[in-house]
Amino acid sequence: MTYHPSTTNADASVQSAFALPSYISDIIARFDAAGYEVFCVGGCVRDMMRGVTPHDWDLCTSALPEQTLALFADKTCLTVGIKHGTVTVMWDKNPVEITTYRCESAYIGHRAPSSVTFTPSLREDCLRRDFTVNALAYHPTTGLRDFFGGADDLRAGILRCVGSPSERFDEDALRILRALRFSSVLDFDIETDTAAALHTCAPLLTYISGERILSEFRKMLIGVRAASLLCEFADIIAVFYPPLGACAGLQPQIETCFARCTTAETRLSALLCLCGCTDAAEVRSTVSRLPVERRFLDEVTALTINAANMPPVTRADMRRRMTAESVGHITDQLSLHASLFPAHTDDCNRATALCASVAASGDVTRISQLAVNGRDLAAEHMSGRAIGECLQMLLDAVIDDKVENTRDALLRYLKLR
Ligand code: ATP
Ligand code: MG
Repeated sequence: MTYHPSTTNADASVQSAFALPSYISDIIARFDAAGYEVFCVGGCVRDMMRGVTPHDWDLCTSALPEQTLALFADKTCLTVGIKHGTVTVMWDKNPVEITTYRCESAYIGHRAPSSVTFTPSLREDCLRRDFTVNALAYHPTTGLRDFFGGADDLRAGILRCVGSPSERFDEDALRILRALRFSSVLDFDIETDTAAALHTCAPLLTYISGERILSEFRKMLIGVRAASLLCEFADIIAVFYPPLGACAGLQPQIETCFARCTTAETRLSALLCLCGCTDAAEVRSTVSRLPVERRFLDEVTALTINAANMPPVTRADMRRRMTAESVGHITDQLSLHASLFPAHTDDCNRATALCASVAASGDVTRISQLAVNGRDLAAEHMSGRAIGECLQMLLDAVIDDKVENTRDALLRYLKLR
């Protein structure tokens, strides 16, 4: 970690941890010149302090949204979030979200409020944020603002709610899954009271939309700490995916699977298999309790129901698999099988290499790759369905190395049949 002291001042070591992109410095300078307060806040400060380049930059300011708009009248500004105090300024083609300091207002239905109240206080704005490590603010000359011990928690790798955990989860139940997501992705321990409140508040997740649950759950699933969290907080996962409640006692098996399966699709399939949910209809009805895309649903279903299938051994078997399945899917299926049946690891590794070899050498796996087509067969006095059946028969023969894929060889083979 590049960051050392916990401070609210602009000391040298804090400065050195923060390298702001020039467009962020330019925006900050404009607010400074106009006499408004402005800070980088939330995930970007957390990530810079971890030595990770932020994927986006959020600013918060004492300026009201209309004042921000006036300040950036020469730039394109997006106002879709203005009801929540957010103006997105396009600076050198970079969208930067700038939000007026907001404070807690009434939460209704355990979800984030639809209206907000502005405040002149940075501290109040940080008070509404979910976790101490997400409630840090930074300005290049005034330095770090850390009202709730976020820098210490960041250094110690601890995820802790700002304020009372049960109140914070009760206000906005999405924070329950955000806690699991950040713990998983950042590899942070969840502080004891925060962890206890997660269990108590789990039922409140039913108030949260499937889209928002799905977005957090997917990120959590591919985080480094996913396996242990899924076991420890299986009661939470079971709220939206009931069969996964059975994860609780399966940590060693999940760890083994996740070491090899790293995508959301393969990890979810592994969990379903380990929890005994492998029937196609049951898999589909479980996975689609969240609004997953069709492609994701089909992929997870195919992986799960075929998880126990033995890997292809011969080149012909592999080519046949490749007539219907993509290289990526076959590789994922092999990873899943190896992770569930570690005794088959060598077979799966051989099959994975075979799959790569077949793909690289351009072996014929599709009718369109044959050296003859429908017109050639029509010239041989064939018509209708017979053409399709013959092409399929020729593909099978080429896959099984019974005939070479040249026009003459294929037509000769056809005549012999
Ligand atoms: P990342 O963008 O890397 O996923 P992030 O911390 O920036 O992480 P965002 O969802 O972009 O997460 O939110 C930006 C900031 O807004 C957070 O750091 C946090 O301070 C605050 N925040 C977001 N969602 C909530 C919430 N549900 N409750 C309280 N504060 C929140
Ligand atoms: Mg963010």
